[in-house]
Amino acid sequence: MVSNIDYAFIQNFLSTKKNIVITTHKTPDGDALGSSLALYHQLKKNHNVSVIVPNEYPHSLKWLPGSSSVLIYEGGESICNSIIHNADLLFFLDFNKLYRTHTMCSVLESSSAFKIMIDHHEEPDGCCDYILSNSLVASTAELMYDFLKHIDCELNQDISVCLYTGIITDTGSLRYPNVTRKTHEIISDLMRFDISHSDIHEKLYDSQNKSRLDLLRICLQNLKLYNSQHAALIFLMESDLIDFNYQKGDTEGFVNLPLSLKHITFSTFFIQFKDGIKISFRSQGDFDVNSFAKLYFNGGGHKNAAGGFIDNKDMDSAIAYFENTLKTHLEK
Ligand code: 5GP
Ligand code: MN
Repeated sequence: MVSNIDYAFIQNFLSTKKNIVITTHKTPDGDALGSSLALYHQLKKNHNVSVIVPNEYPHSLKWLPGSSSVLIYEGGESICNSIIHNADLLFFLDFNKLYRTHTMCSVLESSSAFKIMIDHHEEPDGCCDYILSNSLVASTAELMYDFLKHIDCELNQDISVCLYTGIITDTGSLRYPNVTRKTHEIISDLMRFDISHSDIHEKLYDSQNKSRLDLLRICLQNLKLYNSQHAALIFLMESDLIDFNYQKGDTEGFVNLPLSLKHITFSTFFIQFKDGIKISFRSQGDFDVNSFAKLYFNGGGHKNAAGGFIDNKDMDSAIAYFENTLKTHLEK
């Protein structure tokens, strides 16, 4: 847990109208957008606020209140750069390293605005003036709830829906081990605002494209099991994405499926894009995928959920490399 936030300073800073930019990591997920939009709904009461995300996000999150105001950096660079240049205050949400903002990295780095990071990944960059970081907390939305309380935010329905979405999507609907009594207490508090949890779950999980099921079928056909290492791998080729008209978000959660098998506690998903292979790791129990991703796959994340990237897109050699590292790492 790292926190150096001086809330009195922030309250004072926010006592006059400011230009504020909220940003998050590449390919934003429910926690990234939920936290960003919750903060947006609070700050827009008194300030000029823009939420700028590095690239497009899944349609299953487009219904979030405030989503229509979100600016996409990729393709809108010049307007976004000018908004960032004019910002007095930047919020970095749900990421620990500046490189995770992808092409936004340099303009954020060179900004002279006051910077605040709120995040739950291990080993945050020291790039901000203030930081609220706790890798034991299950979602950034949970930290955002605390932050909002500290700045005397009056919660409302929009804020509650956004925070609820952030918490639910990062906790596998409240099932992961890092969910605590406090997580449930926050959910209970959010429910005061007459939010429909079943409606939110339906929008998040029951409004998928057919392409998702087509790609799932391919993934399951590609399943590789390494029983003696309690590990599994699934993968998709770029040609599968083209054949089945892949849309962003289609493969969300696929990496978890092999974990439903008895004795499998480490799952890996490779997805081949034109510039390389994007990797997702998940584990149950003690196996630390954050270290594994950091050591061998230029990535990181959390103990039980991490990601990485291989620049070379050759799938056969990526799989061979994975099988080798799995063997040598577990022998160590
Ligand atoms: P996902 O598999 O959903 O893309 O990512 C799982 C977790 O790992 C998320 O918490 C995400 O923030 C983190 N993560 C994914 N890719 C990277 C990466 O390249 N570097 C780091 N440091 N974290 C990552
Ligand atoms: Mn998160």
